[in-house]
Amino acid sequence: MVTRLHDEIPDDVNPWFRVVSLIEKAGHLLGLNEGLIKRIVTPERILEVALPIRMDAGPVEMFTGWRIQHNTARGPGKGGIRFHPSVNVDEIAALSADMSIKCAVVNIPYGGAKGGVKVDPSGLSRSELERLTRRYAFAIAPMIGPDRDIPAPDINTDPQVMSWIMDTVSMITGHSTPGVVTGKPLAIGGTLGHAGATSLGVTICTVALLNRLGRSPEGERVVIQGYGKVGSPLIKLLSERGMKVVGLADVHGAIHVPEGIDHEKMSLHFEQARSILGYPGGEEIRADELFALPSDIAIPAALGGVITEKVAQTMSATVVVEAANGPTTGEGAAILTSRNIPVVPDVLANAGGVVASYFEWAQDLQGFMWEGELFKQRLEKTMHDAFDAIWLRHEQLDLALRDTALVVGVERIAEATELRGLFP
Ligand code: GLU
Repeated sequence: MVTRLHDEIPDDVNPWFRVVSLIEKAGHLLGLNEGLIKRIVTPERILEVALPIRMDAGPVEMFTGWRIQHNTARGPGKGGIRFHPSVNVDEIAALSADMSIKCAVVNIPYGGAKGGVKVDPSGLSRSELERLTRRYAFAIAPMIGPDRDIPAPDINTDPQVMSWIMDTVSMITGHSTPGVVTGKPLAIGGTLGHAGATSLGVTICTVALLNRLGRSPEGERVVIQGYGKVGSPLIKLLSERGMKVVGLADVHGAIHVPEGIDHEKMSLHFEQARSILGYPGGEEIRADELFALPSDIAIPAALGGVITEKVAQTMSATVVVEAANGPTTGEGAAILTSRNIPVVPDVLANAGGVVASYFEWAQDLQGFMWEGELFKQRLEKTMHDAFDAIWLRHEQLDLALRDTALVVGVERIAEATELRGLFP
């Protein structure tokens, strides 16, 4: 029953197949009928768009983009937009399904969606990036809207990109439409707490897991893969709670810092070097050695598919918290389970970002902005409640945290689907 979307990707590394098999497994555990499982698995809408962009040098180049609404039984589609050379329809479909599960796991009234453009944005000028963003926004405009599908930042997209999307949609509708995207700058309907919200959620889940395992965060050694929107605030948040980040990787390479990375020193260094390499006191290591460094907690916070069977076999950490989307392959997950390494899955661990998006969207729809403290309190409560609910269910069902989160997510989507019935 697995639908093949993109023929070139082998089945064993296809992210869409990974998600489908997880949802099917959860559906079977819940005893759902095959028809309902099929409905939950299958993306509702897949839009592929061709994007002709005039480059600064004069010629026109073609790019391809997608927006996929996976499931909208629980509410409008929600999910980020990524700009990356490896983007393809299977990856976006998998990520859109992850968003359906994620929103259900943290119990916010959204379905799941995702978008992306196959492009290396580091090779574009600012005006090329703006033209590409606006053309993409125009092309997917029939599908998005505050009550239909609400994009947000993801890999290589930021508040500026969200501003261009918001403006393009506002030009089409003829009125300001702040609720069409989240993760906007403050000046146009964004919220104080959005930046760093994913990292805060990851931190809450890390501490909550350690507590449940009877461990104190104090002195725990962490390795983080990624020094972007999620990885960089994490160093500060984890250090504030007594943990030390002893290993870090970015696109340029990896470093080992046994005494722990100082977040301020790293951010000053990064500002100048545009790379984590060369951090004072950091020993350069091969990027593929990161997860084998002596450590207690591993946090992948970059691309998907990085914790493979081999990485899982040599991982030193005894817990994993998935800040990235889909960082663990099916084989990698099986090895971690066999090694009794608990994993807080992406759909729970990194949900702080979409919870923050929900609060931003609610404020935009109401035209009433909250104070910063209320935002933080509600975010923390939502993440704590979600973690506790998944932990309790994991103990009742005696299932891994990932499978438990999938079961809870699929159960909630199934309930909404059944209640709404079948049209026509
Ligand atoms: N891109 C983030 C994620 O994968 C946030 C999505 C959103 O806020 O809609 O969860």
